[in-house]
Amino acid sequence: MKYHSTRNNSDFFSPSEAVLQGLAPDGGLFVPQELPEIDFVTWQGSDYQTIANRIFKIFFSDLSDQVIAEIVCAAYGNNFDDPRIVPIHRINDQIGFLELWHGPTLAFKDLALQFLPHLMQAAKEQLKFEQDILILTATSGDTGKAAMEGFAGVEHFKVIVFYPYNGVSSFQKRQMLCREYDNVRAIALKGDFDDCQRGVKQLFSNQEFTAEAATAGYALSSANSINIGRLVPQMVYYINSYLQAVTENNLSYGEPMSIVVPTGNFGNILAACYAKAMGLPLGRIHLAANQNNVLSDFLQTGIYDSNRTLIKTSSPSMDILVASNLERYLYLKNPDSEWLKSLMQDLNVSGKFQIDPDFLDLTASWTDENETSTAISEVYQTYDYLIDPHTAVAYSATAKAGLTDLTLVASTASPYKFMEKILSALDREIPKDDWHSIEVIAELSGEEIPQTVSKLWQLPQDQELVISADQMSKAVFDNI
Ligand SMILES: *Cc1c(COP(=O)(O)O)cnc(C)c1O
Repeated sequence: MKYHSTRNNSDFFSPSEAVLQGLAPDGGLFVPQELPEIDFVTWQGSDYQTIANRIFKIFFSDLSDQVIAEIVCAAYGNNFDDPRIVPIHRINDQIGFLELWHGPTLAFKDLALQFLPHLMQAAKEQLKFEQDILILTATSGDTGKAAMEGFAGVEHFKVIVFYPYNGVSSFQKRQMLCREYDNVRAIALKGDFDDCQRGVKQLFSNQEFTAEAATAGYALSSANSINIGRLVPQMVYYINSYLQAVTENNLSYGEPMSIVVPTGNFGNILAACYAKAMGLPLGRIHLAANQNNVLSDFLQTGIYDSNRTLIKTSSPSMDILVASNLERYLYLKNPDSEWLKSLMQDLNVSGKFQIDPDFLDLTASWTDENETSTAISEVYQTYDYLIDPHTAVAYSATAKAGLTDLTLVASTASPYKFMEKILSALDREIPKDDWHSIEVIAELSGEEIPQTVSKLWQLPQDQELVISADQMSKAVFDNI
């Protein structure tokens, strides 16, 4: 497999090059040269790790089979608290929740970020790359800790994540301020997620900064979903869950299964689009947005307009106005680099662009705060099952989308990460300290407090380091 930029399809890169660079040199995103057609029915009966092996052999084809097997083994083992890795919780004949949060940081980001560090190490060896790697990452809350956890203690890698000051849940903040290794660090930026993402992208294209990093012995890379090494592992769980539905007789192979994905930066949903483009018989792929509904507006009208005020919601991982991976989706639907370059130019200059919506094949809807609470409470009262606010946004969308066939709702975070919204949706008093909230959530869910949660309350916390956008470069060098 070769990769090229969305904005230039004549220069090609090996998988390892694409993974280590993160962003393409022209500011575009790396995309695979082709998405091979696969008869997934022949994969029936494979477990998660086997599917991961097969997908990685296709997309990371410059690594040996043995290296890939070792990486898969290290990435998807007992670091997940369920041997199925991504179990499905079915609430009725139609709807199942795809629980993507059984990894060490309790959100779906672990599926990619327990894997990416091993992949990057292998890529570094493959390319005989001498420099250390400095990973700069913007986070709306979940990527940050997942990256810190994945890279914790990994030699020759440093990770610095920027999260929006006062823009993450208190649980997420504690996760990022508790660390057991010095090579990872979280910094709060005065601003929102878009400011963090913009700031990181600017550092990448700032020649003075990259030169200074090089002098200090570092090459830059990213652990955001702009990195193709994050996207590919996310295809695995869609393939796995479709085949599982067939195994469990909920579906015969070839019948459509629809997917609803709570969306922020468009990474998770894009992986579903890629899997479908390769032949996985998915039905509708529905994008669920929160009140920051720039993407659902776009899919309905063809107008992408980020000129609006970001609203802080109870699903902060979706509080995003500029969704990076949309560029890859547009390229998938219309592989014309020049066209895409002009759209991205428009977006840069005026914060918006417009296209003919006819060829967009996703449906979309958005959900406000009240509806999110209703969804949490309805699922709990009716099905005795706790869902987090991001998952609630997606659940709420299933009715709006009028989906009637077998539907999988991507459940992207554990309820423990966003306890306040859940407790208020269930009309529970919100305890003064988080630990008591945790006990209440455990009681409501009828399950024990996960080990990763109790461990977090035993670790010392860093002092929060708060900076403004113009201090990012200095903060990086102070902390490596
Ligand atoms: C990151 C995240 C999302 C959004 O996923 P994207 O790939 O950015 O669209 C949704 N829910 C949770 C809990 C997340 O952490």
